[in-house]
Amino acid sequence: MSTLTQPIQGMSDITGAEVRLWRWMEETARGVMTRYGFEELRTPLMEHESVFVRSIGDTTDVVQKEMYVFEKGGRRYCLRPEGTAGVMRHAAGLGPQETDGARWFYLGPMFRCERPQAGRKRQFHQCGVECLEAPSPVVDAEILALQMDLLQAWGLKNLAIHLNTRGAAADHAPAAAALRAALAPHEAELCEDCRRRIGQNVLRVLDCKNEPCKAVVAGLPALTSFMSQESRDYLDAVASHLSVMGVPYMIDPLLVRGLDYYEHTIWEIVGTAAGSQSALAGGGRYRIRLGERELCGVGFAIGMERVAAALEEAGLAAAHGAAVPLDLWLVGLGDAAREANLALMRSLRAAGLSCRMAPGGSMKSQMRAANKSGARFALIRGEDELAAGTANLKNLATGEQETLKTEAIEQRIQAISAAAAPTAASGEPT
Ligand code: AMP
Repeated sequence: MSTLTQPIQGMSDITGAEVRLWRWMEETARGVMTRYGFEELRTPLMEHESVFVRSIGDTTDVVQKEMYVFEKGGRRYCLRPEGTAGVMRHAAGLGPQETDGARWFYLGPMFRCERPQAGRKRQFHQCGVECLEAPSPVVDAEILALQMDLLQAWGLKNLAIHLNTRGAAADHAPAAAALRAALAPHEAELCEDCRRRIGQNVLRVLDCKNEPCKAVVAGLPALTSFMSQESRDYLDAVASHLSVMGVPYMIDPLLVRGLDYYEHTIWEIVGTAAGSQSALAGGGRYRIRLGERELCGVGFAIGMERVAAALEEAGLAAAHGAAVPLDLWLVGLGDAAREANLALMRSLRAAGLSCRMAPGGSMKSQMRAANKSGARFALIRGEDELAAGTANLKNLATGEQETLKTEAIEQRIQAISAAAAPTAASGEPT
């Protein structure tokens, strides 16, 4: 594969119908998130490495294996592997009056040096939110409802929320110690990764995909049994608020999520697509200390590639990927007509019509270009039409042709467009 003609492995050019689908997805997302009181925040794609090491945790897979890190001028930078840490770095530089109650969303690329496979890329895109309101199960449930509303606004159905808790901060060390003790008699049965995880990041043993590890885990008490009543009550409250809002969920005692900053509620949303890449989104409540500030928030991130794939699979992508045809292709015969068309094209564009013309060529080649472009009409002017102040408007789909006064062109096309536009009641995409 040539490095001069192909993108880096695990990264893709997004083109044509895909771009149109993505733009619709992004605009839909902006609309839903704005209705929940969120404002867009755009942080840089590159940060100091320490921002992620501090917030995500230095024993996580993301920090240990997946970040693109590089050095320049004696400083270590990285491409962002996720969105929360950058938003928190932004918040940590502000005063409490600017961050208390802040609701931000982001849309953009993330970078992880993983083994590329279906649904797992090295550059992928996330749509996420961070909500810095005072910790409350009410807020967690509202954010989960937002995430479901958003996935449903895109047209996705049959989604399952897997819900669990990492417990209050005070429970983390005792729960990890209890889990370690419960795993100790089974150490020899675990895979090499999990034996290493016992010392470093023991919770990750719970979501290991290896069968022998799964068998050991199946015999353990639920993680919540090692937590305080406060932690269990918090999870119950989130669950009951979800029920009140009619948001379906299932408690998944083995869900742990990969990052260290979580506290209390965690979740993943799984779609119906086959295979291990069916996780469309993840989220949870977290506490992050950066510099002098400790920030508590709740947020989620949705994988846009996975949503686009799910829409494709459900047959919902094509409607949003359709190209909008040009209104007009101007055809001019002779130098004078071409010059006049150049000026006319400018005023038609200023009036909101989309148009193009070929820089020269025969009538035949210009008409060929017009047909190839998919434009709705060709506007044809030769010397006679120019002298008479008229033009021939040809409907390229039907072949019908009419002669119009130049000044009536814009109005005529707008009128035809209005007559052809789908009504709101027809339910067709606009
Ligand atoms: P995470 O930050 O790992 O919880 O990821 C949140 C969501 O982003 C996941 O549920 C996926 O939909 C998506 N995602 C994470 N990593 C990748 C990746 N390497 N390629 C594509 N999508 C990803």
